[in-house]
Amino acid sequence: MSTLVQSHQRSLGSLPPVGPIAYGQWRFTDDDLDVARRLLETALDSGMNLIDTSDVYGFDWGGTGFGQVEEILGRVLDSAPGLRDRIVLATKGGIAPPTPYDSSPKYLRAACEASLRRLRTDVIDLYQIHRPDLFAHPADVAITLHALREEGKIREVGVSNHTPAQFAALQAHLEFPIVSTQPEFSAIELTPMRDGTFDQCAEHRVVPMAWSPLAGGRLATGDGVRPELIAELDRLAEREGVDRSQIAVAFVLAHPTAPIAIIGSQNPDRIRSTTAALGVDLGRADVYAIVQASEGVALP
Ligand code: NAP
Repeated sequence: MSTLVQSHQRSLGSLPPVGPIAYGQWRFTDDDLDVARRLLETALDSGMNLIDTSDVYGFDWGGTGFGQVEEILGRVLDSAPGLRDRIVLATKGGIAPPTPYDSSPKYLRAACEASLRRLRTDVIDLYQIHRPDLFAHPADVAITLHALREEGKIREVGVSNHTPAQFAALQAHLEFPIVSTQPEFSAIELTPMRDGTFDQCAEHRVVPMAWSPLAGGRLATGDGVRPELIAELDRLAEREGVDRSQIAVAFVLAHPTAPIAIIGSQNPDRIRSTTAALGVDLGRADVYAIVQASEGVALP
């Protein structure tokens, strides 16, 4: 099979290998510990050992406030010894409602230490700057990240929602490589393919972590999505014997920079069935058909 879909494990610097599909916790706001633990274990059992959360999760999406989702995850980890060792734990800091962003040395250090407390862990495997603070000099952000790493509080560093230039400016002040960048990327959000984000990943072997690979569910439901794109995804789904969502995830995994697709379902059956994306055969004509249906224009 000459599929473009890359189903191999991804390598994030010094961290243990992670599966090509990650489990994202933006919507992980159910306070029932049994429900939370079942979702987490379903993801892990499905090979999604990279768990992506953030200190701000819980602030929206039906949550009770800033820190809630990390708190739930921390309680789950505390209730099940051994679970922490199965996880490559990624979180983020730097969104500070209502400011809205703060990556100043004092704030970022306090945010990271608060995440450690809520997550009930000694170390964050991947610490990501959630959104760039336009009023923080990258040299200052780098000083904080160096210190947190020296102190053993974080292992690797990533960024999210950074332009390639913002990534490069921070990297210029760091003595270690940034291992990941987290843009939105899906069959309807193709920007990272053309704005330099994926080119930078290719140049420096940075791992792209694609958020909302189903466009928050719209690619599954079809809501607000160009009908040509839904028709194309359905055609491929029928051919491959999977569903439309699995084709959408396979498309994300087909980019040559080998992105990680961060899914966000709160439904155990859907989490499990997403792994069917790994067996999909997508060739060049298929991915270009998706791009052209997404944009509604033929490529020149
Ligand atoms: P997604 O996987 O694109 O969307 C998940 C949503 O789609 C859920 O509400 C899910 O509902 C729904 N869905 C899935 N399959 C469906 C189906 N067949 N029919 C109807 N609805 C369906 O991802 P996401 O949750 O938007 O984001 C994933 C992760 O990306 C987040 O958890 C977070 O880790 C990360 N993220 C990062 C940023 C950032 O700024 N860095 C921003 C957004 C997200 P069910 O729960 O009912 O399945």
